[in-house]
Amino acid sequence: METMTNAITIEKSKTSKIHDVDFENLSFGSTYTDHMLVCDYVDGAWQTPKIIPYQPITLEPSAKIFHYGQSIFEGMKAYKDEAGKAWLFRPLENHKRLNKSAERLAIPELPESFFIEGLTTLLQLEKDWIPETPGSSLYIRPFILASGTGFHASPADAYKFIIACAPSGSYFSGKVRVLIEEKYSRSANGGVGYAKAGGNYAGQFYPTQLAIEKGYNQVIWTDDNNHEYIEEAGAMNIFARINDTLITGPTSDRILDGITRKSILEIAKDEGIDTEVRNITVNEVVQAAKDGTLKEMFGAGTAAVISPIAGFGYKGVDYDLPELSESYATRLKKRITDIQYNRAEDKFGWRY
Ligand code: PMP
Repeated sequence: METMTNAITIEKSKTSKIHDVDFENLSFGSTYTDHMLVCDYVDGAWQTPKIIPYQPITLEPSAKIFHYGQSIFEGMKAYKDEAGKAWLFRPLENHKRLNKSAERLAIPELPESFFIEGLTTLLQLEKDWIPETPGSSLYIRPFILASGTGFHASPADAYKFIIACAPSGSYFSGKVRVLIEEKYSRSANGGVGYAKAGGNYAGQFYPTQLAIEKGYNQVIWTDDNNHEYIEEAGAMNIFARINDTLITGPTSDRILDGITRKSILEIAKDEGIDTEVRNITVNEVVQAAKDGTLKEMFGAGTAAVISPIAGFGYKGVDYDLPELSESYATRLKKRITDIQYNRAEDKFGWRY
């Protein structure tokens, strides 16, 4: 494993912004902590990371990020338990996925020690920024962008790996209504859907805006071939409960390998819930909604953890899901957040 030759340098900010923050009323991802980590890739190697005050970065107009969108990111959280101890959830999975994305976008892979040491050094400095209010956490955004220049459409020769953090409240409040997409696609076979590439999200904005104009909160992405299969819910993986079986699609070129998704699958099995990983057709979801066997649908991802779906629209018809007093969504969300916030035994070894 490649390791750092020098220790991470730390330049502390002269003043802290922490006292200006209302920790009781945090929105999602819009207030940033005092410091950030920056690590440059130049001359064919990742250099020693630096921690510096959170500040703008300078790039040339010819930097390839601006022209070819060569950029990838991760999303993770730090949680504080009742004793004030800070925890991460499966951070090595984020590192592995960052490198999967890097490979697909022709970005040089980042060694594990740069990611984990960078992250933990930054968080030790920013630990007072991890909120203690229930449901809140410190959202962490590691990302890599092409800073190397040139209008030639080819990979850059220089990159920046940055970690910035934002104390955040919960992502969604309440249940969402979703629109099953019949025209647009977020990903394709052989494409970049499985990578957390910046442009994947830009491509989602317009269809999502159209869905919002129609009165929905979010789009359910379907496959790009015939819009026959349910694939993801906005920027979350999707689960459907038909009768008592919890179903999610298999990961593929088109579906992001979500850490929440795979954790939920393991927890559900541990709870004795019947799970299936297989393609879910739009048709079966519509039929199940009609005959009352579609009990629940929910999105799963780091930001919202589990986001229950109240109903969906498809081909101009709206379908409502039942209000359950004991849903899988509530049960699984409690199990996963109890592990994240160190309120329960971590039998899977996921806390860090
Ligand atoms: N799908 C997409 C497209 C996403 O962007 C995310 C968020 N990373 C997820 C699913 C959920 O992944 P995770 O549980 O690792 O946050």
